[in-house]
Amino acid sequence: MRAVVFDGPGSVSVRDLPDPEPRPGDVLVRPVLTGICGTDRHLLAGGFMATYPLVPGHEIVGQVELLGDDAGGLAVGDLVAVDNTEVCGACEPCRRGQPLYCSRFRSLGCNAPGGFAELMAAPAAKCFPLDGLDPAVAVMTEPLACAIHGADVLALRPGSDVLLFGAGPTGLLLAQLLLHGGAARITVAAPSQHKLDVARSLGVDETVLLDRADPGASASRLRDLAPSGFDVVVEATGAPSVLALCAALTRTGGTVLVYGMADADVTVPFSPYDIFARELTVRGSFAQIHCFDRALLELRTGRVRTDGIITDRFPLSRFGDALTAVAGSRTIKAVVDPQGG
Ligand SMILES: [Zn+2]
Ligand SMILES: [Zn+2]
Repeated sequence: MRAVVFDGPGSVSVRDLPDPEPRPGDVLVRPVLTGICGTDRHLLAGGFMATYPLVPGHEIVGQVELLGDDAGGLAVGDLVAVDNTEVCGACEPCRRGQPLYCSRFRSLGCNAPGGFAELMAAPAAKCFPLDGLDPAVAVMTEPLACAIHGADVLALRPGSDVLLFGAGPTGLLLAQLLLHGGAARITVAAPSQHKLDVARSLGVDETVLLDRADPGASASRLRDLAPSGFDVVVEATGAPSVLALCAALTRTGGTVLVYGMADADVTVPFSPYDIFARELTVRGSFAQIHCFDRALLELRTGRVRTDGIITDRFPLSRFGDALTAVAGSRTIKAVVDPQGG
């Protein structure tokens, strides 16, 4: 089969690999659409949980090709969204009821073979039938599942005034969840007018264009919108210069949610006195487990919309162009057709 392979930091190729062997309980899936995101760039750079050689691709919609031993609940030909996460059930965090922090966390496309390939193996229990949902919508299930986990962590109080930095796929999905989850007002700030226009079309109340080189210079507009600060400020870009702005824009007693992924060695200065004296809460949100079912229902009912989010589509052979596209300011979500040559 053809597959994208990361052989080490900065080394990417599209080449032939042996077809994957399903383990007991696995199905073989033929990916039909796999989303690409900033995490893939981190993985290629050697960050996050990269283990080489790696077939990346963790936002997967595919067709069941073959049922392995003991794989039930699916039929050959079913279109499914693949939940890429697996936990061991036996490590200390798993046994303490915190499986998201599993010390043997297995994530297809991050530290195990993923969906930028003509075939992949996945546990049958982690494949969710689309039941007629358009694959071009269902490919947003994984990022939406992660956003649902973020919303779970945040536990938004109804009536909150929310500021969200970032209008990438995640920002646009999380904004809609918070909008429907009780926010009185949601403001999205990002450096791309096109992305802000999409945010508006998806129901966001206010948008603020940030200067990419100097986000702080644009913060005065945010101050004008909420002179006492926002109840919740969500950082969904991963940019340290943006995270550095968040605490000062948060209302006394409010919460900063760190949702975007920065490089592991990045640090951001903050004022301990400010956190202490104004009783700010800083929370993190990492990946997801067990959120696919809710993500699919949100997409099925149309409560969370994906219109305008997929901007680019590439065949497998042009994976390098897809990686370049996701770093640009025009692309929101790029998807790869792994069967498209
Ligand atoms: Zn992703
Ligand atoms: Zn575990």
